[in-house]
Amino acid sequence: MTIPDNAPPRYHVLAKPTGAICNLDCKYCFFLSKELLYPGSRFRMADELLASYIRQLLETQKTAPEVNIAWQGGEPTLMGLDFFRRVVELAAQYRQPGQSILHSIQTNGTRLDDEWAAFFRQHNFLVGLSVDGPQPIHDTYRVDKGGQGTFERVMQGWQALRRRAVDVNILCTVHAANADRPLELYRFFRDELGAEFIQFIPIIERTTPETLPLAEQGWTVGRAQRPLYTQHGDLVTTRSVRPEQYGRFLTAIFDEWVRRDVGRVYVQAFDVALGCWLGQYTLCVHTPTCGNALALEHNGDLYACDHYVEPDYRLGNILETPMIDLIASPQQRQFGLNKLTSLPKQCLTCDVRFACHGGCPKDRFLTTADGEPGLHYLCAGYKIFFHHISEAMNFMAEELRHNRAPAGVMAYMARKDAALRQAFAKAGRNDPCPCGSGKKYKQCHGR
Ligand code: SF4
Ligand code: SF4
Repeated sequence: MTIPDNAPPRYHVLAKPTGAICNLDCKYCFFLSKELLYPGSRFRMADELLASYIRQLLETQKTAPEVNIAWQGGEPTLMGLDFFRRVVELAAQYRQPGQSILHSIQTNGTRLDDEWAAFFRQHNFLVGLSVDGPQPIHDTYRVDKGGQGTFERVMQGWQALRRRAVDVNILCTVHAANADRPLELYRFFRDELGAEFIQFIPIIERTTPETLPLAEQGWTVGRAQRPLYTQHGDLVTTRSVRPEQYGRFLTAIFDEWVRRDVGRVYVQAFDVALGCWLGQYTLCVHTPTCGNALALEHNGDLYACDHYVEPDYRLGNILETPMIDLIASPQQRQFGLNKLTSLPKQCLTCDVRFACHGGCPKDRFLTTADGEPGLHYLCAGYKIFFHHISEAMNFMAEELRHNRAPAGVMAYMARKDAALRQAFAKAGRNDPCPCGSGKKYKQCHGR
C-alpha cells in the first residue's frame, strides 16, 4: 500500500458498525438523527468492509507503536459478540511487526453481561461506559425507546465489567441536569463506582431558530420532521450546559481532586490540561490543529470527524479510495488547519491559548467583543477553568520536569490551605480579604 508523503504517521478513527442505530433514546443524542443520512440501510458493517478497514488501519500506521481500534455508535454492542471476535481475529492477522493494538469500545452498557465482560477482559478492551451520575440524574436524559430510565441496566453492565476487572473509562456528559452538582457526581463515580478513569463531555446541542423547537423534543426516530443534526446555528437547547456553569463544574471537581486524588483518579480534562502545560497535546479539542480524528460509518463512508458526520464533510468511501488517501487529502488537511487559521483575535491574544487553542471548531459560534465571529461557546467557562488551575498546574508541570511525581501537589495544596486558614483567623474586618478578592474582609468572607 502506498502511503502519501503528507499522511499523518498516526491517526484515530471512531468506527460505527451500526451507524446511528441505538437501543436507547437519550434526549440530547443528536447522533440519532444521523440515521437520516442512510435511508433504507440495514446499518450493519459487512465482513468485507470490516476486513478491509482493519487491514488499512494497521498497514498505514506501521511506525505507530500502538494503534487503537475504536468502536462507537449508535450502540456498537448491537452487532453482537461474534462481530468483535472477528475484529480481534482480523487485528491479529493484519498486525504489523512491533505494533501493539489497543481495542476500545464506547457503550451505553445496557447489553453487557458476564460473557461480554469476559471477552473484553480476555482481549484487554478499554470500555468507555456512559453514566451521567446517580440514578435520578442519569435517568433525566438517558432513557430507552419507551422513555424509561436506564440506570439500573447500566449498573448491571458495570457490575459485570467489575467482576471481570475490565478497564473502564466513565464517560459522563455535562448538561443542564447535572452541571450544578459537580461534587455529587465526582464522589459518586469515585466512591460508589470505584472509578479510576473519568471523562466529562460538555453537551452543546447547536441549533438554529428554525430547528430549535424540534431539537428541544430530542433527535430520535419517530419524531415527525426531525431535523438532521448539522453544525449550524448559534442557539443551543435548554439541555445544553452553559459556559460559566461548565467552568464552575470543572473547577469544583478539580479542587477536590487536586487535594486528594492526584495519581489515583484520572480525570481526562485535568490530564489533558497538564499535558498542555508541558507543551504536549493529547486531545484534539485543545491542540493547535486537528484533522487526525475521523469517523467511519457502517458502509465505509469516512468523515472528517465524529462531530462532522454530515454530507459536506464526507471524504469518500474506503472501499473505493484507500483510507489513507482520504486522510491525506487536501480537503481533510485543510479541515485540520482551519482550526488554527480561523481563530479570532481574542483567542490569538488570550493568556490561556496555550491550553485552550480555541476549543473544537464545532462549537465556535459566538461573536467576540470586537464583533469577530468564531469564538467558542464555552470560552467564558474555559477561562474560569484554566485560570483557576494555573497555580497547581504550574507546580505539577515543574515536578514532572524534574522527574518527580505530580502527586506532590497535594502536600503543596495542604500547606497553602493551612496558610490561608491562618490568614483568615488573623484578618481584621477592615483588612484586605485573604482570599485575594481585593475587597475588605468584612465585605467578602468576613462577618
Ligand atoms: S479561553 Fe476563550 S479566548 Fe482563550 S483561547 Fe479559549 S476560546 Fe479563545
Ligand atoms: S473538529 Fe473538534 S472533535 Fe473534530 S477533530 Fe477537530 S477538534 Fe477534534
